[in-house]
Amino acid sequence: MVGNVPVGGDAPITVQSMTDTKTADVEGTLKQIYALAAAGADIVRCTCNEPEAAEGLAQIVPRSPVPIVADIHHQYKRALDALDAGVACLRLNPGNIRKPEHIKLVASEARDRGVPIRIGVNGGSLDKDIREKYGDKVTPEAMVESALRELAYFDEVGFDNVKISVKASSVPLMIEAYRQLSEVTDAPLHLGVTEAGPPPNGLVKATAGIATLLAEGIGDTIRYSLTSDPIDEVRAGRQLLESLGLRERKNVDLIACPSCGRAEIDVYAVAQQALEAFGERELPLQVAVMGCVVNGPGEAGDADLGIAAGNKRGHLFIKGVNAAVVPEDEMVDTLVEWATIIADEGIDAALAKVDVDKAAREAEKDRQLLLQEQGDDANHAGARVELMRKRT
Ligand code: SF4
Repeated sequence: MVGNVPVGGDAPITVQSMTDTKTADVEGTLKQIYALAAAGADIVRCTCNEPEAAEGLAQIVPRSPVPIVADIHHQYKRALDALDAGVACLRLNPGNIRKPEHIKLVASEARDRGVPIRIGVNGGSLDKDIREKYGDKVTPEAMVESALRELAYFDEVGFDNVKISVKASSVPLMIEAYRQLSEVTDAPLHLGVTEAGPPPNGLVKATAGIATLLAEGIGDTIRYSLTSDPIDEVRAGRQLLESLGLRERKNVDLIACPSCGRAEIDVYAVAQQALEAFGERELPLQVAVMGCVVNGPGEAGDADLGIAAGNKRGHLFIKGVNAAVVPEDEMVDTLVEWATIIADEGIDAALAKVDVDKAAREAEKDRQLLLQEQGDDANHAGARVELMRKRT
C-alpha cells in the first residue's frame, strides 16, 4: 500500500507523476497535486532535496488528495525528515545513497512506520563499482544487481515493503532490465523510461517501453517522464492504461477520422476544439468527430456518440444511430450536451428523446448530396490508378 492506494498483485495498475514546483512552496505544490489528481494521478512524488522541502512536505501530506512519495537523492537525512513529515512512500536511488549504515537506518525507520520504499535504480546514476564490474557499461544485469544489493541491505533489517524500478533512457535497455528483474523478484515494479524527452518523441519512447512490458504482464505502477507539464504525463499514463483495457475509462476517449478528400470540415480543428471542450470532465464515453456524413457514422458506429459533417450541418449519431441534425458551428457544443445526457441517463434514454427516423432521413439527404458533388471517389484514387494503367 502506498497510503490508501494498493500497488502490486491484483491491484489496478496505477499512474504516477511528479511535481515540478519547489516543495517548500506549499500552496503552489498543492495546487499542482490537485491538478494531477484531477487528471487521473493515483500517486504523486515530490522532491525532498533540502530541509525546507521536508518541512513543506509536513504541510502538504495532510492536505493532499493522493498519497505523496518523497524523492530522495544523496542525503539520507532527507529520507528521515520525509518519514517525519508523514509521507506515504520514499523513493531512494541506490546509486547515490551509498553507505550501508545509512541505507539500513532509513529502511529500519520505514519498517517501524510501515512506510514502503521504492528502490529507484536509474541507468544514468548507477552505482560506480557495479558499473565498473560490467566493463564501465550500463547493462540490464548491472541495473538488476544494483536493485538486488539494495534489497539485501533492507533484508538485513527485516524490511521488504518495497517496489522497484530499473529505468533507463534507452528503451531496449529498460525493457530487458525489467524482464530480468521480474524473473528474480515478486516485488511490485514501477515502470518508466527515464528522461524520455519532450512530446511527441518522448511519448513514443515511454509508450514503447512501458506498453511492451505491460503487455507481457510486467509492471504494477507507471510514470511517463516527459519534458512537459506533469499533467501531460498523467494524461498519457491514463490513456495508455485505458487503451490497453487495464483501467476503466475516466474521461472522454475522443476518436476522430484522419480526414481525407471527403472532409466537409477542418477535422483537426474540430477534434481539438472537442478535446478542449471535454477537458477533464468525467464522462467515461467514446466520442467521435468525423469529417463526412458519407462514411463517418458507419466507421465510428461503435462509439457511444459522434458527429459527422455534411452540407454545413452536423449529424449527431448515438451508437451508430442517427439522432439529430445541428448547424455546423454547434457540432462541439452538441457533442458535450449529449455526452452529458448519455453519461447521466444512458444510451436508450438519450435515443428516446430524439426523432431517429427524421435524423436518418436528413443524414441520407446530405449523404446523397455529397456523393453527387464528390462522386464515389472523393480521394481521386480511381483517377490515379487510371494514370498508372495508361503508363503500363
Ligand atoms: S471518408 Fe469521411 S469519415 Fe472517412 S476519413 Fe474521409 S472525411 Fe473522415
